[in-house]
Amino acid sequence: MAVRGNSIIKGVEISEIIRLLNRAYADEWLAYYQYFIEAKVVKGIMKDAVISELTLHAADELRHATMVADRIVQLGGIPLLNPQEWFKHTNCGYEEPSEFDVVKILEDSIKGEQCAISTYASISDIVKDKDIITYNMVSQILADEVEHEEDLQALHNDISEFIYNIKKSIS
Ligand code: FE
Ligand code: FE
Ligand code: MG
Repeated sequence: MAVRGNSIIKGVEISEIIRLLNRAYADEWLAYYQYFIEAKVVKGIMKDAVISELTLHAADELRHATMVADRIVQLGGIPLLNPQEWFKHTNCGYEEPSEFDVVKILEDSIKGEQCAISTYASISDIVKDKDIITYNMVSQILADEVEHEEDLQALHNDISEFIYNIKKSIS
C-alpha cells in the first residue's frame, strides 16, 4: 500500500473507494466474458462487423479490469479473489445471450454499456476532488464506455436500416 500516495485522499473513506472499485471490477470481468461469448455465438446479417466490435470491446473490458485491480491494490485492498463473488458484487449483472441474432446481441450489450456509464459516473461523483488518481482512472474508463455505447448503437442503427430497406425493396 502506498502510504504517502494514500495520504492525499481526503473526505472519502479508502475502504469505501475499495468497495466501489471491487463492484466495478466484478462488472468488468462479467462484461469481458459477455463480449467474449457473444462474439463466438452471434449470428446474422453484418455479423463480421459485429464480431470485430465485440472483440475489441472484450479487450477493453479486460484492460479496465486490470486498471481497477491495480488501483485496488494501490489503495491497500484486495481485488475479489473468487469469480463466484462477481455475481454478489456486480452492479450491472450478466446478460446471458438468449437469442444469438446480431440485433438482440447488440441490444444486450448496449444495456450493459449504459449501466457501466451510470456506475462510473456515480463513482466519479464520489471521488471528485477527493481522490484524484481514482478520479482520473474512472474518467478514462468512463470515456471508453461512452465510446462503446456509441459504437454499438451506430452498428445497431446501420443494421436496422439495412433490414428495413431490404424488407421495403422486396415488398
Ligand atoms: Fe469497462
Ligand atoms: Fe464497455
Ligand atoms: Mg468500439
